[in-house]
Amino acid sequence: MCIEDRRPNDMMDDGANNMVDEGGDVLPPPNGNNQGRLFRDTLIMNHFRHLFSGLKKGKARVFYKPTKDVDVLAVVGLGKKDEKYDELNDIDTRKENVRIASGVGVKSLQEVEVTDVRVEDFEDPVASAEGATLATFAFQEFKAEDKRKKIPKVSHYKADEKKWKEGVVLGDSQNTARYLKELPSNLLTPTRFGELASKILSDGGVKVTVHDKAWAESKKMGSFLAVAQGSKEEPKFLEMSYSCGSGLPNIVLVGKGVTFDTGGISIKPSAGMDAMRADMGGAAMVVATMLAISRLKLQLNVIGLCPLTENMPGGAAIKPGDVVRASNGKSICIDNTDAEGRLILADALCYASTFNPCFTLDAATLTGAMKVALGAAATGCFTNSTKRFKQIQKAGTRTGDRIWRMPLYEAYTNRVTGFPAFDVHNVGQGSNKGGGACTAAAFLKEFAPPGDWMHLDIAGVMDVDPFHGMPYLGGSGMSGRPTRTVVEFLKGFQAEK
Ligand SMILES: [Zn+2]
Repeated sequence: MCIEDRRPNDMMDDGANNMVDEGGDVLPPPNGNNQGRLFRDTLIMNHFRHLFSGLKKGKARVFYKPTKDVDVLAVVGLGKKDEKYDELNDIDTRKENVRIASGVGVKSLQEVEVTDVRVEDFEDPVASAEGATLATFAFQEFKAEDKRKKIPKVSHYKADEKKWKEGVVLGDSQNTARYLKELPSNLLTPTRFGELASKILSDGGVKVTVHDKAWAESKKMGSFLAVAQGSKEEPKFLEMSYSCGSGLPNIVLVGKGVTFDTGGISIKPSAGMDAMRADMGGAAMVVATMLAISRLKLQLNVIGLCPLTENMPGGAAIKPGDVVRASNGKSICIDNTDAEGRLILADALCYASTFNPCFTLDAATLTGAMKVALGAAATGCFTNSTKRFKQIQKAGTRTGDRIWRMPLYEAYTNRVTGFPAFDVHNVGQGSNKGGGACTAAAFLKEFAPPGDWMHLDIAGVMDVDPFHGMPYLGGSGMSGRPTRTVVEFLKGFQAEK
């Protein structure tokens, strides 16, 4: 319902910001610089003033029937008014506070079963829409319909329509990645992933082709096919293309799509293995990014490539010590079959080079070592371009989904290439000496196309970690990170035409 006529002309003078709902709606900072959006009924707000004071950032209070026309009102603390860039935490605090406030406000109203929520823009409609959209995601695909949590309808309260929609697109695209990662592996096989990606991208101007095993054989993708041979599920190779004209250079995005990773013959421990349904998180992020850039109509040429396979210990599975050959002719010794992501990415990166990209980015839930290094605080970034790193770091500062640079030192390359009998080793010498995320990146570097290349190890940010902020993502489940950061980063390429 519309509460437009229920806002006062001035608000209280303490530091809290508010969200209203019921018909739902989020109120602005009470320090008065949101003219025109405030409750007109000053008496009502005066009545609430003492309740807002001391309301901490990200905390909500819910009020019933603040006026006869408003059923429920949520008020959320936004933090200090003048917060901006926080260098130590490498984050645009003001934007992040808006996401948090918007998300917390919507959740608090959802908990009291409000079904139609209006959200204030908090002077940043993109961030407000992102917070609200991300906060309402729920994966309840297999729950009885009458037992499912009700998802409220969320809209803005007098926000800039275009900017609000942009925030919704960004939140939706991240939610798409979350959804794909949550799907169980018996239902999201490589074949089904290809079909679903085609469906997700069916209306956005993205051309989708799902290549089969014979196609991969014709491309001599021996490394990718070696991983797939342990499963009865046929591998697929997803190719997506979004084009805004022949005058633009190609950007290639590559996503690891292991729809389930048992580890293969080097089998993983069973505890927590169900999370390996999300070992296609890189591919999910690439599909989600293609969705966002097409909906936002970014002026770019982008190609998305996702090798899709299971990693299973079937009778035909690769075994430790096996040697295979990637499509660029390099021989690879597979010492550990659980280091399979780099094997499928090797061939995908070789194929990426056929598009003569100006820039190639791969994303993969690649190593547990990445999680050990950074936890869920940031995505690890390995790149041969300081310029591109600075750009994506800045994008992460803005989106709140941060990127941290990791090294591509020659010493790591020596660890994976210094063998007499074959070209590259999939784990490397001294694997018990640590640096596993770095040797994995060094392995990929052997197959990366010429020019600027970036590898994002997203293993640490695969699922939601409530100890690292972002309460709008909830307390558990898959995160869909860092989709919004990659989209924000790609936006910057438009200026380079
Ligand atoms: Zn693995």
